[in-house]
Amino acid sequence: MYDVLIVGAGSAGAAIAARVSENPHWRVGLLEAGPDYPLLADTPDDLINSHNNSYRDHDWGFEYEPTAVRRDRFPRGRVTGGSSAVNTTIALRGMPEDYDEWRALGCEGWGWEDVLPAFKRLERDLDFPDAEYHGDAGPITIRRYPHDELLPPHQAFLASADQLDYPYCADANDPASWGAGPHPMNKLGRLRISAAVGYLAPARIRPNFDVIADAEVSRLLWEGRRCTGVETYAGDTYQARLVVLAAGALMSPCILLRSGVGDPDEVAGLGVDTVAACRGVGKNLSDHPALAVLCDVKHPVDFDTPIIQTILRYTAPGSDKRNDLQIEQISFAGRPGGPPQFVIAPVLEYQYGRGRLSLPSAAQGAAPRVENLFCEDERDCERLAGCVQDTLRFTEVGPLAEMIEAVRFPDAGRGVSLDDLKGLCRKFAGSGYHPCGTARMGARDDDAVVDPAGRVYDVEQLVVADASIMPFVPRANTNLTCFMIGEMVGERIRTNPQEYGL
Ligand SMILES: Cc1cc2nc3c(=O)[nH]c(=O)nc-3n(C[C@H](O)[C@H](O)[C@H](O)COP(=O)(O)OP(=O)(O)OC[C@H]3O[C@@H](n4cnc5c(N)ncnc54)[C@H](O)[C@@H]3O)c2cc1C
Repeated sequence: MYDVLIVGAGSAGAAIAARVSENPHWRVGLLEAGPDYPLLADTPDDLINSHNNSYRDHDWGFEYEPTAVRRDRFPRGRVTGGSSAVNTTIALRGMPEDYDEWRALGCEGWGWEDVLPAFKRLERDLDFPDAEYHGDAGPITIRRYPHDELLPPHQAFLASADQLDYPYCADANDPASWGAGPHPMNKLGRLRISAAVGYLAPARIRPNFDVIADAEVSRLLWEGRRCTGVETYAGDTYQARLVVLAAGALMSPCILLRSGVGDPDEVAGLGVDTVAACRGVGKNLSDHPALAVLCDVKHPVDFDTPIIQTILRYTAPGSDKRNDLQIEQISFAGRPGGPPQFVIAPVLEYQYGRGRLSLPSAAQGAAPRVENLFCEDERDCERLAGCVQDTLRFTEVGPLAEMIEAVRFPDAGRGVSLDDLKGLCRKFAGSGYHPCGTARMGARDDDAVVDPAGRVYDVEQLVVADASIMPFVPRANTNLTCFMIGEMVGERIRTNPQEYGL
């Protein structure tokens, strides 16, 4: 019998486990479908080497449908550390207004002033340790590449940004900032500071804490509407006083649906009895649509270098959403041995449209169907297309333009007017790999799945706390916000156990 059992050892789950297991009187278990590597010395290189993402060796093998005409791979980490163990290590916070808007949508206690202490607590910022909005003692080390460590395309990107009149931005996590500068990143040299490295390594020596790997949860166990534990596909059961789902935005809703929490029609279609009619499960999928401006370049590219180092955050003309656009310089593209290429990526950061996730079957190994419906909302399409135009300016101006042999995509011969680019966005937009919102937090209404404490409505002793509970995607890559969610919910369970029936 565990006091707290957490499902999913990813960004949020590892943070929750670390915080909750600080109470030495509780037995805390952390279940993970993928493998666990307790020692850095035994950790495979794809998880350590943050120069590039790990796409295959520790992946769920999912696919998604970003637009009506596209289907592609949708990577998600399957290992302790979760997606933070395979990702690009960009460590960016959302805009203060994102969290204030969450609060306005019924997430009491999640406004900027509420979440800032958690953002500070999770980080050890090596560059701005004394800034009032940064932390210097948290588990996740963050630094930015100094100018002399930037690869030539990134130095050129910043120089071209200067020529295009974007201001220099030394710290993209300064809440008042915008402009072009080095990315804050949770890496040290090659070493990816994942949730497994930052949170689990120091916590796993605690005698009250178990990490149980290679344990894929099939469903929750119930006594009436009280969640009493979980069952794995291997047939093992684990009892707990409180279960916390942190399996990520694609898998937490699947576990809920397989366990009878969801739209009753969908649940019945899976051959499962409804425990709670929670219609928001799988709805409200939010993400960052992006396109790739693909360039042939004059210099050879080295695939064993940091894939990204710099960022431009800025606001679309006429938009009331500050920093709703990003342009990112990617160091290399294509394949080793192919023509030398890089990408400049326009990304929409504030998304109005929503997609959906559904589960076609409750069988083991059945993947969710993920439909993002990118750029079907005209406001999204217009701003992303405008961002592509702004990105194309980088191929025409300054030192970056001088590195480019030819722009392969979009093909200027087929037109690059705003309307042409809108057409491309509707067809070819892809995900920034930041799905969230599929078990939305909020005040009790038709779509909210969890309350502001993370407790699932209409059942007892069940919490969801990961990217699924975000009301919408913040204007930043999502990993730091997932750590923040883990910090917020983990601390709340530890310090207010009575709210969770503990
Ligand atoms: C390739 C890639 C690159 C990315 N790059 C960045 C970046 O540079 N910066 C950034 O901010 N964000 C990035 N992201 C997104 C970011 O990593 C995620 O938003 C974040 O890690 C999600 O955290 P989470 O806790 O919600 O889920 P995850 O970290 O995905 O954790 C979920 C965990 O639950 C486990 N699990 C799932 N189902 C079960 C089950 N049934 N039983 C047991 N365990 C289960 C999974 O194996 C996984 O370990 C990237 C993502 C990917 C995939």
